[in-house]
Amino acid sequence: MKIKTILIFGGILLSCNMWGQQLHNRDKALPCFEKTFSILAHVPKDTFGELTINEAQIQAAIDTMNVYFSPICMRFELCEINVIDNFQYAIPRNTNEWTQMKVKYQQNNRINVFFPLDIPWVPFDCGYSDLSGLEFPQRDGIMVKSPCIINRPKSFSHEMGHYFGLLDTHEEMLGGREAVDGSNCETAGDLICDTPADPYVPGDTLIGKYLSEEFLCRFIFTGRDRNSQYYVPDVGNMMTLYPDTCRCGFTQQQYLKMGEVYRGAEGSW
Ligand SMILES: [Zn+2]
Repeated sequence: MKIKTILIFGGILLSCNMWGQQLHNRDKALPCFEKTFSILAHVPKDTFGELTINEAQIQAAIDTMNVYFSPICMRFELCEINVIDNFQYAIPRNTNEWTQMKVKYQQNNRINVFFPLDIPWVPFDCGYSDLSGLEFPQRDGIMVKSPCIINRPKSFSHEMGHYFGLLDTHEEMLGGREAVDGSNCETAGDLICDTPADPYVPGDTLIGKYLSEEFLCRFIFTGRDRNSQYYVPDVGNMMTLYPDTCRCGFTQQQYLKMGEVYRGAEGSW
């Protein structure tokens, strides 16, 4: 197990260094929480009565997630799988159904994670998390699309990032588009200043427009921001929607934000 973790970590360092990204691995300046969270996995059956994902596949994504949360000494363990017989919840049609699922199945003192086949109202992300859900674990939860997480296991870490209060790096719903020079980084984009502005628009063609066809994780987008500056995003940041193979971690400020949300929620855990 230890050897496996070192290998995963080594692989991450290698791919991150390849692209010259400044993402964090271990840093003494980060808080260390020594906290293990229990995950309750809710797995619906599909219309053929098959489970949407198996235990080994969930465990593999959790193992990956544990690598990325280790810099702040947080771990996740799978405590139970709850099989949901109602195949309707394999593809929740709207937020009402999402709320129903949580009301019916959630348990306290757990991070409740559902594994539907698809979420039609979330076309681009690999799942859906209630933002800062960690603060209200009885009410809030996470959904991760099973086919997505099987092929892109880091998507679980991405959704967990949302549950710990992080926004997508390309986010512009709250404060508008972040400028390349970072002058509005506290109030625009993902509201985090050590994640460079990310111009990706969900649904846009990725390969050929944002990323090189030849070297997948090489950013080639030629659009500029309102100050005519070219974008230089970290395509390796966990909170992007760039391919899983490019993703290699969170930044220091993202870790600090997650730590802050946890501190505010500690009473619930
Ligand atoms: Zn996201």
